[in-house]
Amino acid sequence: MRNGLPRHCRLQSQLVPSKQPSMNTLPACPQCASAYTYEDGAQLVCPECGHEWSAGSPVAGDDERVIKDANGNLLQDGDTVTVIKDLKVKGSSLVVKVGTKVKNIRLVDGDHDIDCRIDGIGAMKLKSEFVRKA
Ligand SMILES: [Zn+2]
Repeated sequence: MRNGLPRHCRLQSQLVPSKQPSMNTLPACPQCASAYTYEDGAQLVCPECGHEWSAGSPVAGDDERVIKDANGNLLQDGDTVTVIKDLKVKGSSLVVKVGTKVKNIRLVDGDHDIDCRIDGIGAMKLKSEFVRKA
């Protein structure tokens, strides 16, 4: 009985298929959304519509929002920007003066796409069109 257990284990392990049926982890066809795409060298091919495209080229940034300042420069989290026009703070008599430096901005979704904190005013939301990258 000494060898019983190991042999049992070995038998068990033989029941496990050595190869899993290959899962299709390829991206769906960008043309017709077919899931039956296959690889042909560096290319991906769709058998349904015949579309061919190269693998590894990610679809243009879908989850990454592009927010630009008044000059068309790309803004990023942590950037310092300068306000380019006087901005009234809603619900108060405060004004963010033109030329005010705003450090460490955070890009957010929405109409006002910059979340920040301005000295003397506090947490604010700005529109990227009213700032310039410092
Ligand atoms: Zn297709």
